[in-house]
Amino acid sequence: MDHRLSPELEELRRTVEQFAHDVVAPKIGDFYERHEFPYEIVREMGRMGLFGLPFPEEYGGMGGDYLALGIALEELARVDSSVAITLEAGVSLGAMPIHLFGTPEQKQQWLPRLCSGEILGAFGLTEPDGGSDAGATRTTARLDPDTDEWVINGTKCFITNSGTDITGLVTVTAVTGRKPDGRPEISAIIVPAGTPGFTVAAPYSKVGWNASDTRELSFADVRVPAANLLGERGRGYSQFLRILDEGRVAIAALATGLAQGCVDESVKYAKERHAFGRPIGANQAIQFKIADMEMKAHTARLAWRDAASRLVTGEPFKKEAALAKLHSSTVAVDNAREATQIHGGYGFMNEYPVARMWRDSKILEIGEGTSEVQRMLIARELGLVS
Ligand SMILES: Cc1cc2nc3c(=O)[nH]c(=O)nc-3n(C[C@H](O)[C@H](O)[C@H](O)COP(=O)(O)OP(=O)(O)OC[C@H]3O[C@@H](n4cnc5c(N)ncnc54)[C@H](O)[C@@H]3O)c2cc1C
Repeated sequence: MDHRLSPELEELRRTVEQFAHDVVAPKIGDFYERHEFPYEIVREMGRMGLFGLPFPEEYGGMGGDYLALGIALEELARVDSSVAITLEAGVSLGAMPIHLFGTPEQKQQWLPRLCSGEILGAFGLTEPDGGSDAGATRTTARLDPDTDEWVINGTKCFITNSGTDITGLVTVTAVTGRKPDGRPEISAIIVPAGTPGFTVAAPYSKVGWNASDTRELSFADVRVPAANLLGERGRGYSQFLRILDEGRVAIAALATGLAQGCVDESVKYAKERHAFGRPIGANQAIQFKIADMEMKAHTARLAWRDAASRLVTGEPFKKEAALAKLHSSTVAVDNAREATQIHGGYGFMNEYPVARMWRDSKILEIGEGTSEVQRMLIARELGLVS
C-alpha cells in the first residue's frame, strides 16, 4: 500500500495549494467578516474544473475520483474551510447523487453545469426534528395522478449551498408512502431552484463557515414533474446512506486540511513571536505541541487516503470512512485549539487565520454525521450492534 501521490495528483495538489495561497488567502477574511458568499472565488474554482473533479469527461468533468477531490479539499481547507465546504457540498451532496443515481436525461440536464460550477447543487436531508435520525423524515411527497407531478410539503434545515444566486437545485428526501411493514417509504426528488412554493430563508448566523451558504428551506405544495424522482422510488434512504459514506471521506480530507493549516500557521508564528528574549518556538513546550499537531494531521491524512483508496477501487469502505471522519474531525478541533493557544491574544483576533480555523473546526464533529454517529457506525461494523 502506497499513500504517496501519483505525479498527476501531486500536480493537482500543487495547483490547488497555489490557488489557495494566491487567490483565497488574501481575500477570504473580508468575505468571512461580512458573512458573504465569495462568488468570485467560487467562479474561479469552477474555471479550474474543481467542481467536476470526480465526474466523467462526457459531462464536463475532469475524469478523476474521490482521491483527487480529497486532495483539492485538503489544500483549500489548509487556508479556508468556507470555500472548501462549498466545494465539498457542491460535489459530494449536490452533483454526486445525480451522477450515481440519475437517469441519462437527469445527468444530461444537470451535470455539465454542476461540473463547470455555473450552478451549485444542494442536498436536503436534515429536518428541524431529525438530523442523526435521518430516517425520521417528515417531509412528504405525494404523486398527483392527474398531473403526474410530485407535490412536496415540509421543511429542511441547515442545508449548505441552498440559497446562493447560483444554486440550481436541491435534492430532497421525502416520505412517498408506506412500506408493507408500515415503515415510511423514503425517496429522493430533485427540486429546481425557483420552483413555486419552494422558499429559502435568510442565511443562518453561524459560529463558523461564515463565507459558506447555509439555509432553512420550506416546501408548500411544491410541484415538480414525476420524472424528477432521483433513483428508485423507496430507495432514498439507502441512496443517501451511500452519499453520506462518500461524503465522510471528503469531510475527513477537509478536516485534515484544517489540522495541517493550524500546523503551518503555528510553525510560522512560533518562529516570529518573541517572549523572554527568544522566539516562543525555542521553548520545548511549544515545539512538542506543534510536533503533536503534525503527528495528528499526518495520521488524519493516512486515514482519509486509506478510505478514499478503498472507495475508488470498489472495496468496502464504510468503516474506514467513519474512522477517518471521526479521527480527522477530532484532530482538527485539537489542532485549532492548540494553534490558537500558541498565538496567544492574537489567536483570538479574527484577522489571524487560526481564529477562523478555531471557529470552523467544531462543525466538523457535527456535520455529515456527528462523532457519536461515527462511533455507532464503527461499532456496527465491528459486529457490536445486533
Ligand atoms: C453548517 C451546517 C451545514 C450543514 N449542511 C447540511 C446539508 O447540506 N444537508 C443536510 O441534510 N444537513 C446538513 N447539516 C445538518 C447536519 O448534518 C446535522 O446537524 C447533523 O447530522 C446532526 O443532526 P442534528 O443537528 O439534528 O443533531 P441531533 O441528531 O439532534 O443530535 C444531537 C446530539 O445527540 C447525539 N445523538 C443523537 N442520537 C444519538 C444516539 N443514538 N447515541 C448517542 N448520541 C446521539 C448527537 O451525536 C448530537 O451530539 C448541516 C449542519 C450544519 C450545522
